[in-house]
Formats: sequence, structure tokens, C-alpha cells
Amino acid sequence: MTDTMLAARMHHVAEEMRLEQIPVPSLGPGEVRVRVHAVNIVPNLANILRMWTTWFPQDPLPTLPAIFGLDPAGEIEAIGEGVLGWNVGDRVYVNPGRYCLACRACRQGDLINCSSYAFAGYFGFSPTSVELLDRYPGGLAEQMIAPAYSLVLLPDNLDYYSAARMGYLGTMYSALKKVGAGPGKTILVNGISGTLGLGAVLLAPALGLTTVYGTARDKKLLKTVADLAPNVVQVHSLLDGPVDEWIHQQTGGRGVDIYVDALGPGAAPETFQQGMRALARGGTCVNIGALMGDIPVDLHNLMDQQKTILGSAWSTAAECQEMADMVAAGVLDLSPLEHSVRPLTEVNEAISDISSRNGGFTNFIVSPSAR
Ligand SMILES: [Zn+2]
Repeated sequence: MTDTMLAARMHHVAEEMRLEQIPVPSLGPGEVRVRVHAVNIVPNLANILRMWTTWFPQDPLPTLPAIFGLDPAGEIEAIGEGVLGWNVGDRVYVNPGRYCLACRACRQGDLINCSSYAFAGYFGFSPTSVELLDRYPGGLAEQMIAPAYSLVLLPDNLDYYSAARMGYLGTMYSALKKVGAGPGKTILVNGISGTLGLGAVLLAPALGLTTVYGTARDKKLLKTVADLAPNVVQVHSLLDGPVDEWIHQQTGGRGVDIYVDALGPGAAPETFQQGMRALARGGTCVNIGALMGDIPVDLHNLMDQQKTILGSAWSTAAECQEMADMVAAGVLDLSPLEHSVRPLTEVNEAISDISSRNGGFTNFIVSPSAR
């Protein structure tokens, strides 16, 4: 008799998840089976489930019915053939990035640029991603299969609910690393109170960030963000005027070295353009948000002022391990997160809850091990 497990699966685009007993997935070489304790219900999940095939038909979903769930954490239940250095019972975060290990980018060690790169339990970036998506379902099930290369060992002081935030946090971390963020650099984050943007404030002590300017709309939420690091973070509501005017006032007309765009889908393109105008000569914009479509940029100004625009998607398991080590060392404090936890049986309610979040502070978790 095959062992079974409870899983949430979507059978048709935009339908609710169905709770089903399905066989526990079999373990292949190089893989581990993880008992899932927490999955992050990230703000974009509802878009993926309902809108993705319309908005981004070039970015495929897994073959339906499929188990979604992007950011899982749990403990290793079984170890596949050839896996070295991991043990049953290890507490882990599973980085959902999947790659083929065989294409040109993979062979160069440039894993996120794999030509088949996929987010397990979410979507892929090319037609060949589907094979990886179908081999590696997401975390909205009692157990999941993960390649050993995706694992991040959790220190004792990092709980599963906080660990399941590692994906969005890692997106900010990887972007800040790519542009050399650190002491002495001035940083502007558009969308600082959101799930992505808040990461810059949480990561500030570990990265030695000394000046972070942040914008959003909600003034009450902005104050809560600024209170986390009052000597580092300055905030501005978009209701009080354009971002570039505020930045030029704050910096004596110079502008910022780094502009991180963490705006959500549907944000006004003008806010991005203001961020570009807020860049100092030689500055870099890194886009990790979800702005869509074509937005005009003054290319002559870009050349004259030697500005750079960079796109950055996600982070590697190695970068997540660095963040786990920072938590272990006490320089990355995730205690400001407010966990909202539901059992797997309430997965549809959890996805609907997203609209009621307290900005990026709310950490929506489905826990397949909770009753
Ligand atoms: Zn590859």
C-alpha cells in the first residue's frame, strides 16, 4: 500500500484549491523529502493562480492539477541516494529556485540564469521550466521533494514561520549585494512598507546600511517602518509629493547612490520615473518589484549621468544560507514579523487573507503540520 498525504491542489486556473489525499512523492537521487511545517502565502500568489496565464502567458504554470506554495520550511524526513552532508531531522528552508545543472548558464555557475529556471510551486520562465515545475511541486502539502542543492540549514534561533519569509527577504538581499549596498551608500526604496521593501530595513544592520530612504503611501505604516531603525531610515509618503523632490531636499540636491524599486503590481509608473530622477550621478537602479509593461526612461540622462538599471530576481540557496547565518549571529532580527498562521485545510482562506495585511509586517503562513 502506498503512503498518502494531504495536499492542496489547483485543478483549473482561478479555481479554489482542493484538499486531497495523494501518494507521498517518491524520492530520487540527489533529493530529500521534507515534512513541511510552514509555507509563505506570498502577496503575489493570488495573481499567479488567477491572472498569470493572462498577464504573462510566456511564464508557464506547472501542469494542473498542481501543488503550489513558494517558500517552504520544514524538517528532512528522508534522504535520497547520493545526498551528502544532510541528515534526517535537519531543519531547513527550501529555496524554490530550480535549475537544470546542464545548460550553458548552469555550467558557468550562473544558476538563476538557467535556461529552464523555475520557481517550484509557482511558475517558470521558459517552456522547458515545466519539466522542473512538474518534478518539484510546491510546499502546500504535508511532504515535498526538494533537490539537496536547494536546502538552507536553519539555526536553532530561526523558527519555521520566519524562515518561510526567506524568499522575499532574499530577493532584497541579493539585489542589495549586486549593487554593493553598504555603509556610506545612500539607498532609496520605493515601496518600503511592503513584503519586499521591508527587507531593506530588516537587513540594514547586517549590511551596515547607514542611510535608507523609503517611500510608500500609508503614513501610519511608514512610521512603524521608520521606528525599526530611526537613525538609519527616513520615510516619505507619496501623498506628500514626488519622490525625487523629497530626495533632492534630503541630499542637498545630490540624489541617492542606489534606488531599489519594490513597488507592487498596479503601482503608478511615475513613481518609478521619480526614483530614476532621484539617482545621483553614477547611481544604480535595481528593480525587484512587479511593475509591468513599458515605462519611458530618459536615456540621454542615463548616459550623461552614468546611471544603471538592473533587474534582479530572487536569490540563491547560498545567499539564503548567508541570511540564516546572520540570524544565528544575531545581526538579522526577524522578530518584527507578525505571523498569521492557518492549517493546510484553510489554504483558500489564507490566500484570500492577503488583502487584509498590515503591509510587509504580516507574514501569512500555511502550516501543513498545524491542526
Ligand atoms: Zn540550467
